[in-house]
Amino acid sequence: MRPVDRTSRLVRRGRGIGTRLALMAAAVVLLTMALAGGLLIRSMGQVYHTEARTRAASLLGTLAVPCAMAVSVNALERLDAYLSEVARAGGEHMDILHVAMLDSSGRVIAQAVADERSGEVATASMFGLDEPFRRRAANSADAEWRETRDPAGHLRLTVSTPAVSGLRWGTIVATFDLRPVELRVRIARWALVGLSLLFAAVLGIEMYSGLSRMVVTPVRRLAAAAAAIQRGNLGARAEVPQNDELGRLADAFNDMAAQMQSYTEGLERKVAERSAEVQRKNEQLEAVNAQLEQAVAELARLASQDALTGIANRRQFMEVLERHVGKPAQPPTTLLMVDVDHFKRLNDTFGHPVGDRVLREVARLLGTGLRGTDLLARYGGEEFTAVLPATPPDVGFEVAERLRTAISHHDFREAAGIDIGKVSVSIGIACHPIHAATSAELIRCADEALYTAKREGRDRAVAFRVPPPA
Ligand code: GH3
Ligand code: MG
Ligand code: MG
Repeated sequence: MRPVDRTSRLVRRGRGIGTRLALMAAAVVLLTMALAGGLLIRSMGQVYHTEARTRAASLLGTLAVPCAMAVSVNALERLDAYLSEVARAGGEHMDILHVAMLDSSGRVIAQAVADERSGEVATASMFGLDEPFRRRAANSADAEWRETRDPAGHLRLTVSTPAVSGLRWGTIVATFDLRPVELRVRIARWALVGLSLLFAAVLGIEMYSGLSRMVVTPVRRLAAAAAAIQRGNLGARAEVPQNDELGRLADAFNDMAAQMQSYTEGLERKVAERSAEVQRKNEQLEAVNAQLEQAVAELARLASQDALTGIANRRQFMEVLERHVGKPAQPPTTLLMVDVDHFKRLNDTFGHPVGDRVLREVARLLGTGLRGTDLLARYGGEEFTAVLPATPPDVGFEVAERLRTAISHHDFREAAGIDIGKVSVSIGIACHPIHAATSAELIRCADEALYTAKREGRDRAVAFRVPPPA
């Protein structure tokens, strides 16, 4: 389906409604005036023709009696004189072309022509007096008339009147030039055409401006407001301050736009509120998550750390030892098992809090004597272990000796808060995989070496001695 371009439909320009309606109005006016004018011109023409006939009949009426009398006394010279007089006077004032007296059988007994300058010998038929008309006129008791055109196409009116003086002595016939009448009709027609055009133009302009004001401008404003709303300007309104259908349409449109705007703004407000709420909740969640992560990290730390000394606990020690033991390809791992000598006595003499402080100080001293890759852990009570990866037993022994010496030479007064005298440790040393294949075995060997150190007088380091084969 072809997409509809709504914007272009709303803003496109073409011949406006105003122009079209104005042209239509002008056309209607022209058509109406053409029809009415046609009828008017027709009836005007009829009036002019009737008037010409009446005028001609009355002229002939005045001429009929003297001419009848001239014929009755057979005074044909007088008859010629009358006719010539009429032709001369009529030619000057009454557009008469030809006048004649017919006898009872329609023959011309006398005639006169208004304009004899042409030099032609005038005949009655030259003025439309053909045989049939002459007969009709001679036999008719009333006035007869007919209109004919001369060879040049000019209209002529021929009228007859019975010449009566007591008896009927003949018929007077005259032909009149109707060109002045035709000219009057033509002038009237052109005046009407000009008037129609003028009227149509004035009406068209009036209608154009009226329609522009009443229809086109309001419709354009409505279209512009609709286009603006379509572009996203929801505050656009159509200003149509008139109390008619378009005004009411604009009011309805504006109401609708206002509703849409408030609805959209409400929606946007709600969306913004919801977004802010979601944002707030997200931040809260993130804070809780961070706290949780902290707590988990703290738990993990606590789960693997000794609470008193802060070093690794037995659990972490076992994990680390498992990682280093039991894999044949690994380099040797040496395990030191460290036990504080006569610690019970120290506790008993100076109390547990002092004992705790001593334990912490021992842990600190052991830690400072080891490498970063070694693991120091509290195995339990006053026992510590040290896992020394990649360390053969002789090196392990040297480390153990260094630790033991550091402790036995250390002054615990500051750490214990009291003079507790000398503190010593015994250390058992065993090495994987030389002395043991498993972690349990390794611990047992180191423990055994520690026991030997105790037995041999304490304050010493003893490496596991492989028992001689039985
Ligand atoms: P030896 O030289 O044979 O190791 O003698 P010892 O007294 O050190 O050994 P023993 O196993 O008899 O005593 C260990 C003492 O360590 C007993 C216990 O009260 C004490 N102890 C264990 N854990 C703690 C602790 O966390 N704090 C304190 N203050 N004392 C502890
Ligand atoms: Mg012990
Ligand atoms: Mg002990």
